Amino acid sequence: MSEEKRSPFPKDPQEQLQEKILKDYPRLGPEDTFTFSCHPGISCFNKCCSDVNIFLSPYDVLRMRKRLEMKSSEFLKQYTLMPIHKEMKTPVVMLRMNDDEAKTCPFLSEGGCSIYSDRPWPCRMYPLGLAAQKDTPDGWRGERFYFLLQEEGCEGFEEPTKWTVGQWLDDQGVSEYDEWGEGFKELTLHKFFDDGGVLSPEKMHMFFTACYDLDKFREFVFGSTLLQRFEVDEDFVDEMSYNDETLLRFAFLWLQFSIFGEKTVKVKSEVIEAFKGTLEKKKLFEKESVEGPEEEK
Ligand code: SF4
Ligand code: SF4
Repeated sequence: MSEEKRSPFPKDPQEQLQEKILKDYPRLGPEDTFTFSCHPGISCFNKCCSDVNIFLSPYDVLRMRKRLEMKSSEFLKQYTLMPIHKEMKTPVVMLRMNDDEAKTCPFLSEGGCSIYSDRPWPCRMYPLGLAAQKDTPDGWRGERFYFLLQEEGCEGFEEPTKWTVGQWLDDQGVSEYDEWGEGFKELTLHKFFDDGGVLSPEKMHMFFTACYDLDKFREFVFGSTLLQRFEVDEDFVDEMSYNDETLLRFAFLWLQFSIFGEKTVKVKSEVIEAFKGTLEKKKLFEKESVEGPEEEK
C-alpha cells in the first residue's frame, strides 16, 4: 500500500499508481542517497504546485489553519474538499486547488510556498514517497520503504546536492508529522475495518469533527457532560482548552474509545456506579412491568 499522497500522476487511478510503486520503484532505506535541490533559481520553480491531489492529515490541517489564524471550520470550508466515495471507511480531506485553469495551490506565491514552514506532509516529503506492502502479515505496520518520485519537468534532480533519505527527512522536518501520522493511522487502519466494520453516519461525523474540526470538538468536550463522565487529568483538561496539539491527542484517544471500544479513556467510578444503579432500576422496572409492582407491606 502506498502512502504517497501527492500524486505525480493526478490523472492515473491511485490503485494503478500503488501497484506500479510496489512493483517497479526502487526501494530506499535511510542511508540510500539521491541528488536533488529545489530553489527559486531553478527554471521549473513553482511549476509543481498546481493540479495535485494532496490528502491532508489532522496535523496538516492543525498546522495550516494555525498559521493562517483561522477557525478550523472556516479553514475547512475555504481550503479543503471532502470527497465522498462509497468505499471510504473514514473521512478524507484534500487541499482544494484554485478554480483557475492551471488549478494552482491557493498557497502558491511568486516567492514559493507562502506557508512553507507549515506546509503539509506530502509537500515536505517530495521527492520521496513512502510505501508498505499491505498483503504481508503485518500489512501497513510491517516494513515500509521510501521511493523516489519524479514529477514531469522537475529539474531538481539535475542539481548536485546529495542527500541520504534520512538527511532529507530531517531537513524537511518530517519526523514531527510522522509521529502524528502514526496516531492517525491507528485510527484509519484499525482492525475494526479489516473485520468488515463500517462507521455509522454519526460516527463518521464524530471522526471528522474530532480529527479535523478541532474548534467544534473543543465545544463538544467542554460543552457536554464528557468531562464529568471520564477521568481526565485536570492539567490536561486545562491545556486542552487552549492547546490544539493537546486537544488532538485527546481526540485520537477519544475516538479509539468511543468508536473502537478501546480502553484509552477511563469512565469515572461514580458514573459506573450510577450506571449500575440505572441498570438495577431498569431491571426492576422490567420486572414490574412483567409482574406488576410489588405490593406494599
Ligand atoms: S502547500 Fe505549498 S508546497 Fe504544497 S502545493 Fe501548496 S504551495 Fe506547493
Ligand atoms: S518541479 Fe521540482 S525542482 Fe521544480 S519547483 Fe517543483 S519540486 Fe522544485
